[in-house]
Amino acid sequence: MRTDLAALFIIFGGSGDLAQRKLYPALFNLYQKGYLKEHFAVIGTARRPWSDEHYHEIIMTSLAGFEADETVKKTFASHFYYQSHDVTDAQHYETLKQLAAKLDDQYQLQQNRIYYMAMSPRFFGTIASHLGSEALLTADGFNRLIIEKPFGRDYDSAKILNDELTQTFEEDQIYRIDHYLGKEMIQNIMALRFGNGLLGAVWNKQFIDNVQITLAESVGVEDRAGYYETSGALRDMMQNHIMQVIGMLAMEMPVSFSAEDVQREKTRLFKSIQPYTPAEIKTNFVRAQYGETPVEGQTQPGYRQETNVAPASQTETFVAGKVLIDNERWCGVPFYVRTGKRLARKETQINIVFKKTGVNIFAPDKNDQSAVAPDVLTIFVEPEQGFALTLNGKKVGQGFELVSGQLAYQYNQQMLADSPEAYERLILEALNGDGTNFTHWRELAASWQFVDAIRKVWDADQTALPTYPIGSMGPKEATELVQSTGAEWIFDPTQSK
Ligand code: NAD
Repeated sequence: MRTDLAALFIIFGGSGDLAQRKLYPALFNLYQKGYLKEHFAVIGTARRPWSDEHYHEIIMTSLAGFEADETVKKTFASHFYYQSHDVTDAQHYETLKQLAAKLDDQYQLQQNRIYYMAMSPRFFGTIASHLGSEALLTADGFNRLIIEKPFGRDYDSAKILNDELTQTFEEDQIYRIDHYLGKEMIQNIMALRFGNGLLGAVWNKQFIDNVQITLAESVGVEDRAGYYETSGALRDMMQNHIMQVIGMLAMEMPVSFSAEDVQREKTRLFKSIQPYTPAEIKTNFVRAQYGETPVEGQTQPGYRQETNVAPASQTETFVAGKVLIDNERWCGVPFYVRTGKRLARKETQINIVFKKTGVNIFAPDKNDQSAVAPDVLTIFVEPEQGFALTLNGKKVGQGFELVSGQLAYQYNQQMLADSPEAYERLILEALNGDGTNFTHWRELAASWQFVDAIRKVWDADQTALPTYPIGSMGPKEATELVQSTGAEWIFDPTQSK
């Protein structure tokens, strides 16, 4: 891979939470690793009238967790420039253009530009059209737009936004971030699937009984109720992260590992997802809210008691569902998904549950499958990272009893020491012009259409949402959903307490 890349980053929302908590540390990591050296500069823009000196202090504060030498941090911070900028004011883009041209000369940036939208999505379209109309894009270098979620709140609004962006940027200049795709173990799905003949041979309906994806959070809504009330778990987690994980697990092998081929296969897969009728949505998808619950001697607030949440809010904090894929590889194999807040443990885990043997010769009744556990491939995404294959063996001793054992491959701290954080990885990929781990518009369109159908049924349904206790793994309806096909959720931290 090339090192010492040349680029100017223009960050819209340079004083915001995302910029300070994620982007500046990610850029510093790239700096320390030598991907960014002399030839980079950052213009942070936001409304506040900050000086460059104050901005440098903000950068230094955001690097507080790094053990690096102060002079290294200060040299890094000296590449940052602040521009007070109202994104709706055309005049401000002229000033921005002049500063960008000056820095381009000063740092020899080869007219390469990354425009990073790190502010409220309602401004994304405005910024992109001003970048076009005020001629910020350069003629010779690259111009790439990195855009944060949420990308729309349904298909229609996403389409309007995309139409706005594509008036200035081509599809291959737009890098839609889904930070899940920057996670080590999510990227590892490709290695497991397409790097192992053994798994490749059994990765289909003939051998796989069901697939389970859990994105569990232990925190509640925290201080994000304003946003969350308009979003809910379906839009916040299902439309993007869970759909992308389904895409990685279920797509066909791409012709190559290029962005174009990977995105094409994911799009094809999303188009193969079985659309549900309103009645099927009611039986195949479950929503719920965390309710007021006594935990460790005190009552913890339920979702409706949280600050800035409507007392009769119908916003779901939990979603579980069964997704079916109508193609030759997967027809009839349920993909069970669930995500929620205030669950038993913060953990993201994927379980590929294989079919059991046809007969059980170890039991008095050969048709009695109850004593045989299914083989399971578990992918630990976070906090632990690794994978494990659970197989049956013989229990040591007299008689003949089956017992489950694991072939486990856990990444330890030493192995993970070099693992870049998701933003660091994705920013570097955007710098290198590699869109493999970003979302193509066609993927996004298909995933919104699937999620919109569910939202429409739920919005029309005024029955009270079920609640689930804080610290559980969701409502009983989510358990019943999986049990209805004779399966069980493999990941159940409430059992191992
Ligand atoms: P924030 O509210 O902390 O920051 C918003 C920024 O926009 C501030 O710098 C503010 O000054 C600036 N701004 C607002 N109005 C402006 C205007 N008219 N002109 C110029 N600047 C203006 O928001 P955030 O949490 O940093 O989130 C930014 C984006 O990133 C959002 O799309 C969010 O959904 C997404 N995101 C954030 C996180 C996170 O961890 N914070 C995670 C994932 C996605």
